Amino acid sequence: NDEYEQFDREIEAMGVRIKDADAVKVRDDVFDEVTLMALYKLVHKKLISAIGGPISTGKEANVFYGERDGLGLAIKIYRIQTANFKAMNEYLAGDRRFSSVRGTRKALIFAWTKKEYSNLARAHEVGIPVPEPLAFDRNILLMTFLGEDEVPYPQLRNAAVEDYGAVYGTILDYIKRLYQEARLVHADLSEYNILYHEKPYLIDMGQAVTLDHPRAPAFLIRDVKNLNRYFSRYCDVPDEEEVLRAITGT
Ligand code: ATP
Ligand code: MN
Repeated sequence: NDEYEQFDREIEAMGVRIKDADAVKVRDDVFDEVTLMALYKLVHKKLISAIGGPISTGKEANVFYGERDGLGLAIKIYRIQTANFKAMNEYLAGDRRFSSVRGTRKALIFAWTKKEYSNLARAHEVGIPVPEPLAFDRNILLMTFLGEDEVPYPQLRNAAVEDYGAVYGTILDYIKRLYQEARLVHADLSEYNILYHEKPYLIDMGQAVTLDHPRAPAFLIRDVKNLNRYFSRYCDVPDEEEVLRAITGT
């Protein structure tokens, strides 16, 4: 329709290539007006120079491949319409950084986007392998792309892992540093939210909370249970209590 033709014209006028016909297809579903405006801004600031195809169309967000001067980007776009408003609210309300966020669905999604940016930045600062967050605007988060030739590294559940015991140890070390140095609990840790290529990478940190969140201890226990459930199929794992003590240093 007219709006999209205008979008294409304007975005091309800004020098951005639409790399993939698929991107155009998905665009019609997810690029509402708010998202288009946010995208304009990121393009205008020269933070995006090419937009590629969709990498993932999840329940809460869509992820597109992108580039900025040859650097691969993951462009994560939170859906404003279908987001799980109630669940998000609980994670936000208990987190002092975001407890004052109130109001519309939109405001909540924008805060959520900023929260994922902040969480990735904290993890990245202490040296945990995560995508480096580059920018955010409204419901769009830009981060470095973890993959090769526009193909993301596989999720842990699909990865060819040689030494599960070693990978388990590495992930435990990440969680411990996330807790002790970045002062965060991931809160959605699973074989889906870990990418693997030579080493594991933690992703999807929108729901991660600071340690003062009233539910942080429960989220940490859930993360450890998930991790042990998955790895116990492939290697010996210490019991939960012991793992929790190692993470919290108690
Ligand atoms: P949410 O659970 O927050 O609603 P989601 O689960 O759809 O969203 P993510 O887990 O962050 O979102 O990303 C979905 C998929 O997109 C990942 O499994 C991965 O394949 C790909 N992806 C996300 N971020 C990156 C990245 N930085 N580099 C490469 N691929 C990525
Ligand atoms: Mn995910």
